[in-house]
Amino acid sequence: MVKTFHFPTEILCGAGALEAFVARVESRPEKLLIITDPVLKEIGLVGRLTRELDAKGLAYYIYSDTHSNPLEKDVEGGLRAYQDSDCEAIVGFGGGSPIDVAKAIALLVNHPMPLAQYDDTLGGSERISGVIPPIYAVPTTAGTGSEVGRSAVITMRTSGKKTIFFHPALIPAIAVLDPQLTTGLPPHLTAATGIDAFTHSMEAFFAPGFHPMADAIALSSIELVVEYLPLALRDGGNLEAREKMLIAASMGATAFQKGLGMIHSLSHPLSTHFDVHHGLANALMLPASVAFLESRELVTDQRRRLQKVGERVACRRGDPAGSLSGRCRRFIEDVGIEFGLARHGVGREDIARLSIDAYADPCHQTNMVPVSLEDLESIYEAAM
Ligand SMILES: [Zn+2]
Repeated sequence: MVKTFHFPTEILCGAGALEAFVARVESRPEKLLIITDPVLKEIGLVGRLTRELDAKGLAYYIYSDTHSNPLEKDVEGGLRAYQDSDCEAIVGFGGGSPIDVAKAIALLVNHPMPLAQYDDTLGGSERISGVIPPIYAVPTTAGTGSEVGRSAVITMRTSGKKTIFFHPALIPAIAVLDPQLTTGLPPHLTAATGIDAFTHSMEAFFAPGFHPMADAIALSSIELVVEYLPLALRDGGNLEAREKMLIAASMGATAFQKGLGMIHSLSHPLSTHFDVHHGLANALMLPASVAFLESRELVTDQRRRLQKVGERVACRRGDPAGSLSGRCRRFIEDVGIEFGLARHGVGREDIARLSIDAYADPCHQTNMVPVSLEDLESIYEAAM
């Protein structure tokens, strides 16, 4: 049987990658639309990019009206800015949110509105056939890996749900992994985004399906997170640790083209209804979800996959023997995350509607084992 898998994106990596990127785009004098968020603009991080562009006399326009969980109106506003400013290429500068907005704007440049018609779960990627302008991605967090991913997640106006837009043409042409841009990230965001990267790799490794490259990348990414996230937390200015975390995040997203799993389905409604940070939401749901897998009747290959991740976590931490769920719980606690959904305003009365949304979320379709609505309820219950 013929199997297809992909492995793309040019990645500039290391301190000074931002300058190298500007030198790279200097040879293609496209006017750039820079998508970022209000905080990054205010603290001057975007200024590091625009100073380089100014020095080379390159034209750009900044659009920063985006939200941390990106909205459809962010995309529409950015599209107007692109058209009104006669831009020709788009830079997503920030966490996963501005990068996802950049991708969705790029999609709409040569495809008619509304955005909703390109919803991947409704077959929308079939409607994507036009030219997509160049997308460049400059992550300032090490988590989502959107800089190497082919999807964008946007919360839609009508449904209020996080909706996935997916197409190979949405992969950024260049990803810029410059650790100097992440040294100012506060510890709680460093931890939450780092656990997001860990979750991507673990869920990708657990997802059924054939992708030996994704599997190998996922395991290496897990090792990097377990080794370097604590170092990045101990000293935010540790450029080696910051760079390794950026690489781990990109690897996690490269791996999860194989699929994600129930942790992401369980975490998405927590962000939508309780505004819990995406990475933190994954962290809160992770040990209970892994414990659920451990309680299932698994075939040998599935058991071995749990064991392999457990070994990676243990050998980097010098952990004593134990279950994967226990090892993950201790690792997440050690990076400063406290468990308990109740801390984030979630009550037992919320579990029914959260579970319905989690069940409707497509990520669990590639979970290691199929899950029922009742299973998801029991995992929320265990994570309370
Ligand atoms: Zn994620």
